[in-house]
Amino acid sequence: MAAPRDEHERTIAFAELALQQIRALHQPASPRNFEIWYQYATGYSPDLNHAINQTLAKSGSLSETDIDRIYATYFSPNRANDRLDSVGSRMMAEIKQVLDMIDTAAGSATTYSASLADASEKLQGANDGAAFRAVIERLIVGAKEVETNNKKLEARLSASRQEIEQLQQNLEVVRTESLTDPLTTLANRKFFDFELAKAIAEGQAGGEPLSLLMCDIDHFKSFNDKFGHVTGDQVLRLVAIAVKQNVKGQDIAARYGGEEFAIALPKTALHSATTVADHIRRGVVAKELMKRSTGEKLGHITISIDVALLRTDDTAHSLIERADACLYAAKRHGRNRIVCESDPEAGIAPTAAAKVA
Ligand code: GH3
Ligand code: MG
Ligand code: MG
Repeated sequence: MAAPRDEHERTIAFAELALQQIRALHQPASPRNFEIWYQYATGYSPDLNHAINQTLAKSGSLSETDIDRIYATYFSPNRANDRLDSVGSRMMAEIKQVLDMIDTAAGSATTYSASLADASEKLQGANDGAAFRAVIERLIVGAKEVETNNKKLEARLSASRQEIEQLQQNLEVVRTESLTDPLTTLANRKFFDFELAKAIAEGQAGGEPLSLLMCDIDHFKSFNDKFGHVTGDQVLRLVAIAVKQNVKGQDIAARYGGEEFAIALPKTALHSATTVADHIRRGVVAKELMKRSTGEKLGHITISIDVALLRTDDTAHSLIERADACLYAAKRHGRNRIVCESDPEAGIAPTAAAKVA
């Protein structure tokens, strides 16, 4: 739930902190430096802050090379693309080598078959032992060459196979990373949007119900303001655990953005989806939070969840819009609660006929 004024003040504070750092270190106020220091000020990427703190502790400043390295590691929007390009070009190089080897082997097989034809002609014309021996010796030499080439090809193919298997694994790692939220290790929004579209198409085609849950942490901004973003990040991990513990099989769970989590439950009607939502809500509120570094007790946090059910004429957009309306209702009605689209407080007109299943 946006609180534009607070958000304005908070983000200006981050921007000012970023500028202070740039001034203190006499760096150019370039968009790239600003981006790095802004992110540092938010504390959202503990690994980034750690890397910067370490570099500063070692050399007291950040050189251009340090900035290049930090940017490439934590920011470059093309990071995954660069790695994909590198895996792709290594794969192409490997394939070219294998094709070259196959060409060489095919060439030597053609030469060998020509020398076989030649030998057969010569054998017919041969009339003494010495002539026979000469033909046979040439054949043996030819056969040995083919054998050597085949062995080389075999060794090369086996090396290529290992390299290609390794590249396939790298590709899978890059793909998984690009679809994962690093803070919570849940899937990210990109993955969710893709899978939700698939689940909607399947649900509508098969006449099966599909429920959508959106969970939003209550008053998370004040929690961050009070206890800091690093502790806030711990809370995000904790909510992610409660989500993971309550989904299974074909359910699709993701960190949808900031402090929002989305869960799609295929083949699940409103009533069962509400039960899942309630388990997640209870799982979160049951945890007593404690600051790791000091042991300070931070109380409990709560989440609000909506439950919307797919209709035959829904798109992902209209389904999410209905879910959002329920979430607003949950917030309006006091938070730490579940509002499902059939609840009167959601204010959504029931169009039972349009519902799937
Ligand atoms: P409501 O109960 O109405 O949802 O209030 P809220 O404060 O949770 O909602 P609001 O949209 O005003 O604030 C969301 C806050 O979530 C803002 C920001 O501080 C926090 N947040 C978003 N992403 C992250 C993150 O990655 N880490 C941390 N620590 N906080 C985050
Ligand atoms: Mg929110
Ligand atoms: Mg919130």
